[in-house]
Amino acid sequence: MQVPFMDLKRQYEMIKDEIDHAIYETIDATAFVAGSKVKEFEGNFGRYCNIEHAVGVSNGTGALYAALKAYDIGKHDIVVTTPMTFIATAEAISMTNAEPVFVDIEENSFNLSPARLKEYIKKNCEWSEKKKALIDNERKARIRAVIPVHLYGQVAEMDEIKKIAKENNMIVLEDACQAHGAEYKGKKAGAIGDIAAFSFYPSKNLGAYGQGGMVLTSKPEIAEKIRILINHGQKERYNHLIEGWNFKMDGFQAAILNVKLSYLDDWNEDRRQNVKYYTELLTGIEKITLPKELPDRKHVYHVYAARVKDRPGFMEFMKKEGVGTSIHYPIPLHLQPAYKHLGFEVGAFPVSEQVAAEVVSLPMFPELTKQEIEYTCQKIKEWANLSP
Ligand SMILES: *Cc1c(COP(=O)(O)O)cnc(C)c1O
Repeated sequence: MQVPFMDLKRQYEMIKDEIDHAIYETIDATAFVAGSKVKEFEGNFGRYCNIEHAVGVSNGTGALYAALKAYDIGKHDIVVTTPMTFIATAEAISMTNAEPVFVDIEENSFNLSPARLKEYIKKNCEWSEKKKALIDNERKARIRAVIPVHLYGQVAEMDEIKKIAKENNMIVLEDACQAHGAEYKGKKAGAIGDIAAFSFYPSKNLGAYGQGGMVLTSKPEIAEKIRILINHGQKERYNHLIEGWNFKMDGFQAAILNVKLSYLDDWNEDRRQNVKYYTELLTGIEKITLPKELPDRKHVYHVYAARVKDRPGFMEFMKKEGVGTSIHYPIPLHLQPAYKHLGFEVGAFPVSEQVAAEVVSLPMFPELTKQEIEYTCQKIKEWANLSP
């Protein structure tokens, strides 16, 4: 038996007629870029997340960037995030010319640790008895934002992060690129912080057939600013108020996402059922640690990341047996060659480093069958018995 890590074709085959029709409609309306289909999807996705303003953009990376720019974050500013994320989170910060700063994660959720965030801010604003002043008051004022990433589909510890942000005049930008439909204390991911960014990359829980993204905000003036930013700085055609960029959303993608949004809750539920079944079959196997859903959360399992000590051996065994696995992510951002200039050494963020060395993603998508999960778990058991 072959168990694919992911198979996007199965889903398309189930909703083919609706998708094909939506594509036809988009051509018929010539709504190719930022047109009626995008407008419709912005309304639908905003309502789904229960937030007033939604602005469609070209991808998740652009959504993160536009969100920071809308708050005028740029040169000399500092934005804090987690090293245990996809590089886009940090790239968006660097693109504004702000400085990305990392703080370590919590081991139980793999998400940004509020305690480490607090510690970082404190370190940058300690009271100096000698100077009778804050050591680095200036630096503290530059810490403008924090980007918690709802990694793998589980919302970060938002109440505490929001509290710290409020006390320190920072905005909270949710990187909800992996958390479509996830919840925290009854609130949808993307409606908890000051502003949020989503990606509709094909493999995400709500995925386009190309690229797409969205910014969510409750503030009309911020939404307006983003609309201008993503469209060459213009509100009226050829009247450019500022220098912007082209981050507009594609019409086909919005049309496809409109169809798929109505299935999102069902698909997330299917993922959760898959997790239930995995848990039932794998509980008690000591060599593999399964992910946890924390209290007050609805985890949507964009990625089902287990932990094993001998990861290379495990992945090789599974590959040989026909089961696809992957790693999200093998190298934490502070140790990436791209961020060498930030000067971090091995050991700077020990929890992230340990987690990055052990996580392995198992097959997880709504259409995964019971037989495929059974086969995968059977092979995991064989590996556990074989491996010393
Ligand atoms: C996918 C993803 C992004 C980037 O989204 P794109 O649409 O690929 O640009 C950003 N952050 C996280 C955590 C992601 O998973």
